[in-house]
Amino acid sequence: MRKGIGVSPGVAVGRAYCVEEVFVNPQHTELAEHDVLSEWRKFEQACDETSAELRALQHKVTRQIGRDQTAIFQTQESVLRDPAFITKVRDEIFKRRRTAPLALEHVFKDYDQLRARTKDAFLKQRLLDVHDVIIRLSGHLSPLLSFEGDAAEVPHVLVARELLPWHIMAIGGLPLAGIVTQTGGRTSHAAILARRRGIPAVTAARDVLSQCVNGDLVVVDGRNGTVIVNPDPEQEGAYRKLQREFVDLRGKLAENRDRPARTADGVELSLLANINGVDDAQAASAMGARGVGLYRTEYLFLSHPAVPSEDEQLENYRQVIQAAPDHRVTIRTLDLGGDKTIPFLGHDREANPFMGWRSIRLSFEHPEFFLEQIRAVLRAAASPEGADAEIKLLFPMITTLEEIRRIRNMVRKAGKQLAAERKPYRFVPFGLMLEVPAAAFTIDSLLREVDFVSIGSNDLVQYLMAADRDNPKVSHLCEPLSPAVLRVLQRVIQACNRADKPVNLCGEMAGDPRSFLLLLGMGLRNFSMSPALIPTIKNLAAQVTLEQATECLRDVLAQRTTEQVRKLAGRRVTELAPNLELLDSTN
Ligand code: PEP
Ligand code: MG
Repeated sequence: MRKGIGVSPGVAVGRAYCVEEVFVNPQHTELAEHDVLSEWRKFEQACDETSAELRALQHKVTRQIGRDQTAIFQTQESVLRDPAFITKVRDEIFKRRRTAPLALEHVFKDYDQLRARTKDAFLKQRLLDVHDVIIRLSGHLSPLLSFEGDAAEVPHVLVARELLPWHIMAIGGLPLAGIVTQTGGRTSHAAILARRRGIPAVTAARDVLSQCVNGDLVVVDGRNGTVIVNPDPEQEGAYRKLQREFVDLRGKLAENRDRPARTADGVELSLLANINGVDDAQAASAMGARGVGLYRTEYLFLSHPAVPSEDEQLENYRQVIQAAPDHRVTIRTLDLGGDKTIPFLGHDREANPFMGWRSIRLSFEHPEFFLEQIRAVLRAAASPEGADAEIKLLFPMITTLEEIRRIRNMVRKAGKQLAAERKPYRFVPFGLMLEVPAAAFTIDSLLREVDFVSIGSNDLVQYLMAADRDNPKVSHLCEPLSPAVLRVLQRVIQACNRADKPVNLCGEMAGDPRSFLLLLGMGLRNFSMSPALIPTIKNLAAQVTLEQATECLRDVLAQRTTEQVRKLAGRRVTELAPNLELLDSTN
């Protein structure tokens, strides 16, 4: 048994599908002689596609950002032509009869071991480039994973070291019963993917990959972070029963999709969805969201083979607006850096990525890029899809008033440019993401300059508590239900309500039953969360009156430790909505 962090509620039992950096379908076996050549051709084709992708990137980045930023692509492309690399893969395929992804995985491991051993800084950097290019290459070899034959019938638990944005694309709609990763915290990519799809998940399960192989039976308890590899028959039986109850409950809750979100005493709430793309916008509708409260546009950039142009962005925003419930979408501008990097925007490795050059700070440094994105949103708002839609622009990681003023000037400039070019556009409300403590303490003055506020509690908590959101070693500190966080949140929500400025919370805590109850007590009425969590929160809301939420908040604020807050709020949720116990986290 291993203990990690439960990041997506529910219980799953399934067969392990173990993946490391290079994704390999589990059913890959030794190649028959007559398949060897075609496998080699697949590899060659993937190399050609990767080269073409790197050249296209180089071309676009030179045009949009400058030649200085393109050296990395040339280096990566040279790896694809490196005879030593090619020979290694060739030997794996021809001599060891391995499929192309499996061959690549073996070569990847060899290089990674060498990188860990070497003390030579130059070689280390070169091996890091090899590492990056193999991951890119493997995306072309298995762009979308699928289970074939018998494997398609069996529920699987994905067991991975870490999930990168590219992996998330490759997983696509793969039917998964559960997810376990060795690293990551509550807001890592794996956690967000799992919550988005309503899959029970555990992160920070240390060494789990060394404890299990493909096909092992794995139990995932997303409520308290338990992972059991090869459970005994008694454990298996107990968890299978819980899994059935979980699936039943999920199905029942989804039936409330068309009901309005209201408290037991009739107060209207707005439950919105956090999305990463067009598919999620459709899922948001299916789960009964009232709109999209956060479109994380960086995924458009992370998943694009090169750099999306203004027109490509425009097309994407139009599709998202079309698919979103009630055509209501808050589009957040690029939030790169931290754990989300693309090589051409700041490929210098930051010593302290979350505290440094990320998010809006990075966008300011690339004004042409930033302006293109703003233009694409203003144009989408004037498109046929956008004409009657409720579109808003949201800017991440705002720290100072000067930043807001700078953004306002850029939005004006984008409008002027479009007018001069006779391109239709429409100004839309603009808001700030409240994620930095400095902004929380100056909220009164910031509010005068924006139309709305969206609280990014994932970042706000990490900055308030000085605890990296993705580092499992400090996850006990990176805790939304700590007295300090609750006090700051209450202050911000009250300030927004006093100023009559709409306020929403779009961090992961919006979909957590305990946090939801407290936020409701603070006066929050707009919540944005992973689509799969909406039915649960809607069900909880319908069983709570405002008075009960306020009372719970009052009692909680009298507690002095996180542990006490968690316990008390958890108890209240169970008393008010006993039917949801199976979904509430006991971490
Ligand atoms: C947040 O920080 O709470 C948020 C919603 O943004 P992200 O998780 O994308 O940083
Ligand atoms: Mg954030």
